[in-house]
Amino acid sequence: MISTEIIDYIRQEIANINKELFDVQHSIWSNPETRFKEHFAHDTLTSYMEKQEGWKVSKHTFGLETSFDCTFTNEPEKNPTVISFNSEYDALPGIGHSCGHNLIAIAGVVAALSVSKAMQKFNLPGTVKLFGTPGEEGGGGKIKMVEAGAYDKVDVSLMCHPMNHINGAYFKSYANSINKVEFFGKTAHAAVAPWEGVNALDALVITYNAISVLRQQFRPGDIMQCVFSDAGESANIITGYSAGEFRVRGPTIQRVKELRKCLINCVKAGSIATGCEYKIEEQTAYADMISNEII
Ligand SMILES: [Zn+2]
Repeated sequence: MISTEIIDYIRQEIANINKELFDVQHSIWSNPETRFKEHFAHDTLTSYMEKQEGWKVSKHTFGLETSFDCTFTNEPEKNPTVISFNSEYDALPGIGHSCGHNLIAIAGVVAALSVSKAMQKFNLPGTVKLFGTPGEEGGGGKIKMVEAGAYDKVDVSLMCHPMNHINGAYFKSYANSINKVEFFGKTAHAAVAPWEGVNALDALVITYNAISVLRQQFRPGDIMQCVFSDAGESANIITGYSAGEFRVRGPTIQRVKELRKCLINCVKAGSIATGCEYKIEEQTAYADMISNEII
């Protein structure tokens, strides 16, 4: 059982560190960087952590240029428990820090530092870590870190995310599959010999429309979204190549797998109707998050 004295001390440290970190989060917010290009955030956060007493800071870790690993340990032989906090810091293209990863960045720092300060003051044995986790806006940064063994020796891993959500400490995030879809047709002059062409834009439009119709049978929680990333060069050329990003979300990874089969059928519909070849590449897939209710 942790004494209220320790908890009060941690609260007081959080308040002190928060004041220092306002400028840090604001500088990250003012310099938005997209997935795996978060060099400013990486350097800002690691140089802040390097100034903290007792912390060992490793930069560019787990095969990722913009990931980091900070460790504070006190008599681990007496208590092998490792608790990690996580800082995200990437933004979205075009709109910047929309869901507040600048705040996640400093929330991780504050949590890790305040716990380490309590460990020092009350001589508590154990290890606390802070991971810098890049590429969370569709990059699957933590998946790459898990695969590289970052969390192998971690017992408990904690993170918070800003959310307009009641009972926010226990929220569930959806499973997600991000796919690049491409159609390969044949260009032709759209006025002189359109019959020579195979229209890849049409294939994309048919796929889009098939999904739009399919949504009538979706269950609550099923989501399919898309953008056209490549839809032709000029109206007087039959589009020979087209591409789009298609995202599938659902309450569970099993449901996302079912929905992804529906997506593939919609792509096939576009392919068959136009005569285009198609390619579907799953770029990232996230399982649904299952929070630990006891913690
Ligand atoms: Zn977010």
